[in-house]
Amino acid sequence: MKVFEQLESEVRSYCRNFTTVFQKARNAKLWDASGKEYTDFFAGAGALNYGHNNPRIKQKLIDYLLDDGVTHSLDMATMAKENFLTRFQELILKPRNLNYKTMFPGPTGTNTVESAMKLARKVTGRTEIVCFTNAFHGMSMGALSATGNGFKRGGAGVYLPYTTFMPYDGYFGRLVNTAAYLEKLLDDPGSGVDTPAAVILETVQGEGGLNVASDAWLRQIEEICRARDILLIVDDVQMGCGRTGTFFSFEEAGIEPDIVCLSKSIGGYGLPMALTLIKPEYDVFNPGEHNGTFRGNNLGFIAAAEALEYWADAKLEKEIAEKADMINGALSKMVNEHREIEAELRGKGFIQGIAFTGEPELASKLCAAAFERGIIMETSGPRDEVAKLMPPLTIEKELLERGLAEVVEAMNSIMS
Ligand code: PMP
Repeated sequence: MKVFEQLESEVRSYCRNFTTVFQKARNAKLWDASGKEYTDFFAGAGALNYGHNNPRIKQKLIDYLLDDGVTHSLDMATMAKENFLTRFQELILKPRNLNYKTMFPGPTGTNTVESAMKLARKVTGRTEIVCFTNAFHGMSMGALSATGNGFKRGGAGVYLPYTTFMPYDGYFGRLVNTAAYLEKLLDDPGSGVDTPAAVILETVQGEGGLNVASDAWLRQIEEICRARDILLIVDDVQMGCGRTGTFFSFEEAGIEPDIVCLSKSIGGYGLPMALTLIKPEYDVFNPGEHNGTFRGNNLGFIAAAEALEYWADAKLEKEIAEKADMINGALSKMVNEHREIEAELRGKGFIQGIAFTGEPELASKLCAAAFERGIIMETSGPRDEVAKLMPPLTIEKELLERGLAEVVEAMNSIMS
Protein backbone atom coordinates (compact mmCIF):
# COMPACT_ATOMS: atom_id res chain seq x y z
CA MET A 1 0.00 0.00 0.00
CA LYS A 2 1.42 3.40 -0.97
CA VAL A 3 2.00 5.62 2.05
CA PHE A 4 1.18 9.27 1.43
CA GLU A 5 3.12 11.92 3.32
CA GLN A 6 2.75 15.63 3.85
CA LEU A 7 4.72 17.80 1.45
CA GLU A 8 7.85 19.41 2.81
CA SER A 9 7.03 22.64 0.99
CA GLU A 10 4.26 23.35 3.53
CA VAL A 11 5.38 25.42 6.51
CA ARG A 12 4.63 23.23 9.47
CA SER A 13 2.63 25.29 11.93
CA TYR A 14 0.52 22.53 13.39
CA CYS A 15 1.72 20.87 16.58
CA ARG A 16 1.15 17.21 15.80
CA ASN A 17 1.68 15.18 12.73
CA PHE A 18 -1.12 12.84 11.74
CA THR A 19 1.15 10.81 9.52
CA THR A 20 -1.03 10.41 6.48
CA VAL A 21 -2.84 12.38 3.79
CA PHE A 22 -6.62 12.51 4.05
CA GLN A 23 -8.92 12.42 1.08
CA LYS A 24 -12.57 11.79 1.92
CA ALA A 25 -14.86 12.31 4.87
CA ARG A 26 -18.44 11.55 5.79
CA ASN A 27 -20.04 12.38 9.14
CA ALA A 28 -17.53 11.05 11.71
CA LYS A 29 -15.41 9.00 9.33
CA LEU A 30 -12.38 9.99 7.29
CA TRP A 31 -10.42 8.03 4.72
CA ASP A 32 -6.83 8.63 3.76
CA ALA A 33 -5.43 8.46 0.25
CA SER A 34 -4.68 4.75 0.65
CA GLY A 35 -8.31 4.05 1.60
CA LYS A 36 -7.68 3.45 5.32
CA GLU A 37 -10.66 4.44 7.48
CA TYR A 38 -10.44 6.68 10.55
CA THR A 39 -12.96 7.78 13.16
CA ASP A 40 -12.96 11.47 13.86
CA PHE A 41 -12.88 12.29 17.58
CA PHE A 42 -11.56 15.79 16.89
CA ALA A 43 -14.18 17.34 14.58
CA GLY A 44 -11.98 20.11 13.24
CA ALA A 45 -11.37 21.39 16.79
CA GLY A 46 -15.11 22.03 17.01
CA ALA A 47 -15.67 23.31 13.45
CA LEU A 48 -17.50 20.15 12.38
CA ASN A 49 -20.20 19.70 15.02
CA TYR A 50 -22.70 18.59 12.36
CA GLY A 51 -20.31 16.11 10.76
CA HIS A 52 -18.26 16.03 7.58
CA ASN A 53 -20.30 16.58 4.43
CA ASN A 54 -23.63 16.68 6.26
CA PRO A 55 -25.97 15.62 3.41
CA ARG A 56 -28.64 18.25 4.10
CA ILE A 57 -26.12 21.07 4.11
CA LYS A 58 -24.24 19.67 1.12
CA GLN A 59 -27.42 19.62 -0.95
CA LYS A 60 -28.16 23.28 -0.15
CA LEU A 61 -24.64 24.24 -1.22
CA ILE A 62 -24.89 22.27 -4.46
CA ASP A 63 -28.29 23.82 -5.29
CA TYR A 64 -26.95 27.31 -4.59
CA LEU A 65 -23.89 26.81 -6.77
CA LEU A 66 -25.91 25.26 -9.60
CA ASP A 67 -28.17 28.30 -9.45
CA ASP A 68 -25.21 30.69 -9.83
CA GLY A 69 -25.78 32.14 -6.37
CA VAL A 70 -23.49 35.03 -5.37
CA THR A 71 -20.49 33.59 -3.53
CA HIS A 72 -18.60 36.70 -2.45
CA SER A 73 -20.37 39.94 -1.68
CA LEU A 74 -18.35 42.03 0.78
CA ASP A 75 -21.04 43.97 2.69
CA MET A 76 -23.75 43.83 0.07
CA ALA A 77 -27.07 42.43 1.16
CA THR A 78 -27.75 39.08 -0.45
CA MET A 79 -30.67 36.70 -0.16
CA ALA A 80 -28.34 34.13 1.43
CA LYS A 81 -27.23 36.58 4.11
CA GLU A 82 -30.73 37.88 4.83
CA ASN A 83 -32.10 34.38 5.14
CA PHE A 84 -29.32 33.39 7.54
CA LEU A 85 -29.87 36.49 9.70
CA THR A 86 -33.64 35.97 9.81
CA ARG A 87 -33.41 32.27 10.65
CA PHE A 88 -30.75 32.94 13.31
CA GLN A 89 -33.17 35.28 15.05
CA GLU A 90 -36.13 32.93 14.65
CA LEU A 91 -34.52 29.59 15.44
CA ILE A 92 -31.83 30.49 17.94
CA LEU A 93 -32.27 33.88 19.62
CA LYS A 94 -36.05 34.29 19.97
CA PRO A 95 -36.75 30.87 21.57
CA ARG A 96 -34.09 31.71 24.16
CA ASN A 97 -35.37 35.26 24.73
CA LEU A 98 -32.02 36.66 23.67
CA ASN A 99 -31.78 40.05 22.03
CA TYR A 100 -28.60 40.54 19.99
CA LYS A 101 -27.61 42.25 16.79
CA THR A 102 -25.31 40.25 14.58
CA MET A 103 -22.01 41.49 13.27
CA PHE A 104 -19.79 39.66 10.78
CA PRO A 105 -16.30 40.40 12.10
CA GLY A 106 -14.23 38.44 9.56
CA PRO A 107 -13.96 34.72 8.87
CA THR A 108 -12.26 33.32 11.98
CA GLY A 109 -12.64 32.93 15.71
CA THR A 110 -9.75 35.31 16.17
CA ASN A 111 -11.64 37.97 14.19
CA THR A 112 -14.70 37.81 16.43
CA VAL A 113 -12.59 38.03 19.59
CA GLU A 114 -10.69 40.97 18.17
CA SER A 115 -13.93 42.78 17.27
CA ALA A 116 -15.41 42.09 20.72
CA MET A 117 -12.42 43.50 22.59
CA LYS A 118 -12.26 46.58 20.34
CA LEU A 119 -15.99 47.18 20.70
CA ALA A 120 -15.87 46.90 24.50
CA ARG A 121 -13.11 49.50 24.56
CA LYS A 122 -15.10 51.84 22.34
CA VAL A 123 -18.33 51.40 24.35
CA THR A 124 -16.75 51.98 27.75
CA GLY A 125 -13.88 54.31 26.89
CA ARG A 126 -11.63 52.02 28.99
CA THR A 127 -8.73 49.96 27.70
CA GLU A 128 -8.14 47.11 30.15
CA ILE A 129 -9.51 43.62 29.46
CA VAL A 130 -9.73 41.00 32.21
CA CYS A 131 -9.02 37.50 30.95
CA PHE A 132 -8.25 34.21 32.66
CA THR A 133 -5.46 31.77 33.29
CA ASN A 134 -5.34 29.05 30.61
CA ALA A 135 -7.64 31.02 28.30
CA PHE A 136 -7.27 30.70 24.55
CA HIS A 137 -8.79 33.35 22.32
CA GLY A 138 -6.86 33.31 19.04
CA MET A 139 -3.65 34.11 17.26
CA SER A 140 -3.66 37.84 16.46
CA MET A 141 -1.76 40.19 18.76
CA GLY A 142 -4.95 41.28 20.53
CA ALA A 143 -6.44 37.82 20.99
CA LEU A 144 -3.07 36.34 21.97
CA SER A 145 -2.63 39.04 24.56
CA ALA A 146 -5.72 37.62 26.26
CA THR A 147 -4.43 34.04 25.92
CA GLY A 148 -2.90 32.38 28.96
CA ASN A 149 -0.67 29.88 27.21
CA GLY A 150 2.80 31.41 26.84
CA PHE A 151 3.88 28.81 24.28
CA LYS A 152 1.15 29.94 21.88
CA ARG A 153 2.71 33.39 21.88
CA GLY A 154 5.36 31.93 19.65
CA GLY A 155 8.32 33.85 20.99
CA ALA A 156 7.08 36.95 19.17
CA GLY A 157 8.05 39.29 21.98
CA VAL A 158 6.01 41.66 24.10
CA TYR A 159 2.24 41.54 23.85
CA LEU A 160 -0.32 44.30 24.02
CA PRO A 161 -0.14 45.71 27.52
CA TYR A 162 -3.81 46.02 28.32
CA THR A 163 -4.78 42.60 29.65
CA THR A 164 -5.03 41.52 33.28
CA PHE A 165 -4.99 37.78 33.95
CA MET A 166 -7.15 36.47 36.77
CA PRO A 167 -7.44 32.91 38.09
CA TYR A 168 -10.16 30.92 36.31
CA ASP A 169 -12.72 28.96 38.29
CA GLY A 170 -10.98 26.07 40.04
CA TYR A 171 -7.47 27.41 39.46
CA PHE A 172 -6.67 27.06 43.17
CA GLY A 173 -8.94 24.05 43.63
CA ARG A 174 -12.69 23.99 44.19
CA LEU A 175 -12.52 25.56 47.65
CA VAL A 176 -11.19 28.94 46.51
CA ASN A 177 -13.74 31.25 44.91
CA THR A 178 -11.75 33.16 42.31
CA ALA A 179 -14.73 35.37 41.41
CA ALA A 180 -14.60 36.80 44.94
CA TYR A 181 -10.86 37.38 44.42
CA LEU A 182 -11.58 39.34 41.21
CA GLU A 183 -14.27 41.37 42.99
CA LYS A 184 -11.93 42.28 45.83
CA LEU A 185 -9.17 43.39 43.45
CA LEU A 186 -11.57 45.53 41.42
CA ASP A 187 -12.88 47.28 44.53
CA ASP A 188 -9.57 47.81 46.28
CA PRO A 189 -7.95 51.09 45.20
CA GLY A 190 -4.62 49.66 46.34
CA SER A 191 -4.75 46.53 44.15
CA GLY A 192 -3.34 48.12 41.01
CA VAL A 193 -6.19 46.60 38.98
CA ASP A 194 -8.10 49.18 36.94
CA THR A 195 -11.77 48.81 36.08
CA PRO A 196 -11.66 47.03 32.74
CA ALA A 197 -13.69 47.57 29.61
CA ALA A 198 -14.60 43.91 29.58
CA VAL A 199 -14.17 40.51 31.10
CA ILE A 200 -13.67 37.83 28.45
CA LEU A 201 -14.11 34.15 29.27
CA GLU A 202 -14.80 30.68 27.93
CA THR A 203 -17.36 28.66 29.92
CA VAL A 204 -15.19 25.59 29.27
CA GLN A 205 -11.56 26.16 28.34
CA GLY A 206 -11.10 23.92 25.31
CA GLU A 207 -7.46 24.59 24.45
CA GLY A 208 -6.59 25.33 28.07
CA GLY A 209 -7.25 21.80 29.34
CA LEU A 210 -11.05 21.29 29.46
CA ASN A 211 -11.50 23.34 32.62
CA VAL A 212 -15.21 23.80 33.32
CA ALA A 213 -16.51 26.93 35.04
CA SER A 214 -19.39 26.28 37.43
CA ASP A 215 -22.74 27.93 36.79
CA ALA A 216 -22.49 29.74 40.13
CA TRP A 217 -19.08 31.19 39.20
CA LEU A 218 -20.37 32.38 35.83
CA ARG A 219 -23.34 34.05 37.49
CA GLN A 220 -21.10 35.74 40.03
CA ILE A 221 -18.81 37.05 37.29
CA GLU A 222 -21.87 38.40 35.47
CA GLU A 223 -23.03 40.19 38.63
CA ILE A 224 -19.57 41.70 39.16
CA CYS A 225 -19.63 43.03 35.59
CA ARG A 226 -23.17 44.41 35.85
CA ALA A 227 -22.43 46.27 39.08
CA ARG A 228 -19.46 48.07 37.49
CA ASP A 229 -20.63 48.61 33.88
CA ILE A 230 -18.02 46.15 32.68
CA LEU A 231 -19.01 44.29 29.52
CA LEU A 232 -19.12 40.51 29.73
CA ILE A 233 -17.78 38.78 26.62
CA VAL A 234 -18.32 35.03 26.28
CA ASP A 235 -15.99 33.46 23.75
CA ASP A 236 -18.19 30.61 22.50
CA VAL A 237 -16.03 29.96 19.44
CA GLN A 238 -15.28 26.35 20.45
CA MET A 239 -18.04 25.60 23.00
CA GLY A 240 -20.92 27.15 21.06
CA CYS A 241 -23.20 25.50 18.49
CA GLY A 242 -23.96 22.54 20.75
CA ARG A 243 -20.56 21.34 21.93
CA THR A 244 -21.49 21.43 25.63
CA GLY A 245 -25.03 20.16 25.03
CA THR A 246 -26.98 23.39 24.51
CA PHE A 247 -26.68 25.75 21.53
CA PHE A 248 -24.89 28.41 23.58
CA SER A 249 -22.62 27.08 26.28
CA PHE A 250 -23.81 29.71 28.79
CA GLU A 251 -27.49 28.76 28.61
CA GLU A 252 -27.47 26.44 31.63
CA ALA A 253 -25.90 29.08 33.83
CA GLY A 254 -28.65 31.49 32.78
CA ILE A 255 -26.27 34.36 32.12
CA GLU A 256 -26.68 36.86 29.31
CA PRO A 257 -23.35 38.13 28.02
CA ASP A 258 -23.13 41.59 26.46
CA ILE A 259 -21.13 40.21 23.57
CA VAL A 260 -20.90 36.62 22.31
CA CYS A 261 -18.17 35.37 19.98
CA LEU A 262 -19.12 32.53 17.64
CA SER A 263 -17.17 30.83 14.88
CA LYS A 264 -16.06 27.26 14.01
CA SER A 265 -19.35 25.31 13.73
CA ILE A 266 -21.51 28.35 13.01
CA GLY A 267 -20.24 27.90 9.42
CA GLY A 268 -22.09 24.56 9.45
CA TYR A 269 -19.90 22.72 6.99
CA GLY A 270 -16.40 23.61 8.09
CA LEU A 271 -16.61 26.83 6.10
CA PRO A 272 -14.91 29.90 7.56
CA MET A 273 -17.44 32.13 9.25
CA ALA A 274 -17.72 34.09 12.48
CA LEU A 275 -20.36 36.14 14.25
CA THR A 276 -20.12 38.71 16.99
CA LEU A 277 -23.43 39.00 18.81
CA ILE A 278 -23.90 42.41 20.37
CA LYS A 279 -26.57 43.75 22.70
CA PRO A 280 -28.36 46.33 20.52
CA GLU A 281 -27.33 49.31 22.68
CA TYR A 282 -23.65 48.52 21.96
CA ASP A 283 -23.98 48.74 18.20
CA VAL A 284 -21.57 51.70 18.13
CA PHE A 285 -18.96 50.95 15.45
CA ASN A 286 -19.25 53.45 12.62
CA PRO A 287 -19.37 51.90 9.16
CA GLY A 288 -15.81 51.01 8.19
CA GLU A 289 -14.47 50.87 11.74
CA HIS A 290 -14.33 47.08 11.70
CA ASN A 291 -14.54 45.48 8.29
CA GLY A 292 -12.77 42.96 6.06
CA THR A 293 -12.95 41.36 2.64
CA PHE A 294 -14.27 37.96 3.66
CA ARG A 295 -17.26 38.98 5.75
CA GLY A 296 -19.71 38.32 2.95
CA ASN A 297 -19.08 34.59 2.52
CA ASN A 298 -22.39 33.50 1.02
CA LEU A 299 -21.51 29.81 0.90
CA GLY A 300 -21.02 30.19 4.64
CA PHE A 301 -24.48 31.80 4.98
CA ILE A 302 -26.10 29.00 2.99
CA ALA A 303 -24.40 26.27 5.02
CA ALA A 304 -24.94 28.09 8.31
CA ALA A 305 -28.66 28.63 7.71
CA GLU A 306 -29.18 24.95 6.92
CA ALA A 307 -27.11 23.97 9.97
CA LEU A 308 -29.52 25.99 12.14
CA GLU A 309 -32.52 24.24 10.54
CA TYR A 310 -30.76 20.94 11.14
CA TRP A 311 -30.10 21.80 14.78
CA ALA A 312 -33.75 22.75 15.28
CA ASP A 313 -35.18 19.70 13.44
CA ALA A 314 -32.80 17.03 14.66
CA LYS A 315 -33.43 17.81 18.35
CA LEU A 316 -29.79 17.17 18.97
CA GLU A 317 -29.79 18.26 22.61
CA LYS A 318 -31.28 14.99 23.90
CA GLU A 319 -29.05 12.90 21.69
CA ILE A 320 -25.94 14.81 22.77
CA ALA A 321 -26.74 14.12 26.43
CA GLU A 322 -27.09 10.37 25.82
CA LYS A 323 -23.93 10.10 23.76
CA ALA A 324 -22.00 12.31 26.21
CA ASP A 325 -22.80 9.74 28.90
CA MET A 326 -21.23 7.06 26.70
CA ILE A 327 -18.05 9.15 26.40
CA ASN A 328 -18.00 9.70 30.13
CA GLY A 329 -18.51 5.98 30.76
CA ALA A 330 -15.52 5.00 28.60
CA LEU A 331 -13.24 7.62 30.13
CA SER A 332 -14.26 6.65 33.68
CA LYS A 333 -13.52 3.03 32.85
CA MET A 334 -10.05 3.97 31.62
CA VAL A 335 -9.25 5.91 34.77
CA ASN A 336 -10.68 3.20 37.05
CA GLU A 337 -8.79 0.41 35.33
CA HIS A 338 -5.48 2.24 35.60
CA ARG A 339 -5.47 3.48 39.15
CA GLU A 340 -1.67 3.40 39.12
CA ILE A 341 -1.65 6.67 37.15
CA GLU A 342 -2.58 10.11 38.40
CA ALA A 343 -5.44 11.18 36.20
CA GLU A 344 -8.71 13.09 36.33
CA LEU A 345 -11.73 13.41 34.08
CA ARG A 346 -12.30 16.82 32.57
CA GLY A 347 -14.84 18.57 30.36
CA LYS A 348 -18.55 18.21 29.77
CA GLY A 349 -21.01 17.31 27.03
CA PHE A 350 -19.26 16.50 23.78
CA ILE A 351 -15.84 17.68 24.89
CA GLN A 352 -14.43 15.42 27.54
CA GLY A 353 -11.02 14.02 28.26
CA ILE A 354 -8.50 12.67 30.71
CA ALA A 355 -5.92 14.94 32.30
CA PHE A 356 -2.75 13.00 33.02
CA THR A 357 -1.76 15.16 35.95
CA GLY A 358 1.18 12.98 37.04
CA GLU A 359 2.78 12.16 33.69
CA PRO A 360 1.59 14.70 31.10
CA GLU A 361 3.34 12.88 28.22
CA LEU A 362 0.84 10.01 28.54
CA ALA A 363 -1.74 12.20 26.77
CA SER A 364 0.34 12.41 23.58
CA LYS A 365 1.20 8.73 23.85
CA LEU A 366 -2.49 7.87 24.09
CA CYS A 367 -3.34 10.02 21.06
CA ALA A 368 -0.56 8.36 19.05
CA ALA A 369 -1.68 4.85 20.08
CA ALA A 370 -5.29 5.74 19.23
CA PHE A 371 -4.23 7.03 15.82
CA GLU A 372 -2.56 3.67 15.15
CA ARG A 373 -6.02 2.20 15.77
CA GLY A 374 -7.67 4.62 13.39
CA ILE A 375 -8.89 7.21 15.89
CA ILE A 376 -8.17 10.90 15.39
CA MET A 377 -7.96 12.66 18.73
CA GLU A 378 -5.94 15.51 20.20
CA THR A 379 -4.33 16.85 23.33
CA SER A 380 -4.93 20.14 25.09
CA GLY A 381 -3.82 21.96 28.22
CA PRO A 382 -0.72 24.00 29.02
CA ARG A 383 1.45 20.86 29.20
CA ASP A 384 -0.48 19.00 26.51
CA GLU A 385 -1.52 16.81 29.41
CA VAL A 386 -5.16 16.29 28.46
CA ALA A 387 -6.22 13.69 25.90
CA LYS A 388 -9.54 14.99 24.64
CA LEU A 389 -12.47 13.49 22.80
CA MET A 390 -14.70 15.78 20.78
CA PRO A 391 -16.46 13.85 18.00
CA PRO A 392 -19.03 15.48 15.72
CA LEU A 393 -22.35 15.75 17.60
CA THR A 394 -23.91 13.70 14.83
CA ILE A 395 -21.71 10.62 15.26
CA GLU A 396 -23.71 7.39 15.06
CA LYS A 397 -24.02 5.68 18.46
CA GLU A 398 -22.58 2.47 17.11
CA LEU A 399 -19.51 4.19 15.66
CA LEU A 400 -19.04 6.13 18.88
CA GLU A 401 -19.15 2.90 20.86
CA ARG A 402 -16.61 1.23 18.58
CA GLY A 403 -14.33 4.26 18.61
CA LEU A 404 -14.45 4.49 22.40
CA ALA A 405 -13.55 0.80 22.65
CA GLU A 406 -10.49 1.51 20.50
CA VAL A 407 -9.45 4.38 22.78
CA VAL A 408 -9.80 2.07 25.81
CA GLU A 409 -7.62 -0.49 24.03
CA ALA A 410 -5.10 2.22 23.10
CA MET A 411 -4.87 3.12 26.78
CA ASN A 412 -4.32 -0.51 27.73
CA SER A 413 -1.59 -0.75 25.11
CA ILE A 414 0.41 2.21 26.41
CA MET A 415 0.12 0.99 29.99
CA SER A 416 1.17 -2.61 29.29
N1 PMP B 1 -11.47 31.25 20.79
C1 PMP B 1 -11.52 29.96 21.19
C2 PMP B 1 -12.19 29.61 22.47
C3 PMP B 1 -10.94 28.96 20.40
O1 PMP B 1 -10.97 27.68 20.82
C4 PMP B 1 -10.32 29.32 19.19
C5 PMP B 1 -9.68 28.28 18.29
N2 PMP B 1 -9.26 27.11 18.85
C6 PMP B 1 -10.30 30.68 18.83
C7 PMP B 1 -10.88 31.61 19.65
C8 PMP B 1 -9.62 31.13 17.57
O2 PMP B 1 -10.32 30.71 16.45
P1 PMP B 1 -9.59 30.68 15.02
O3 PMP B 1 -8.60 29.57 15.08
O4 PMP B 1 -10.71 30.40 14.05
O5 PMP B 1 -8.99 32.00 14.80
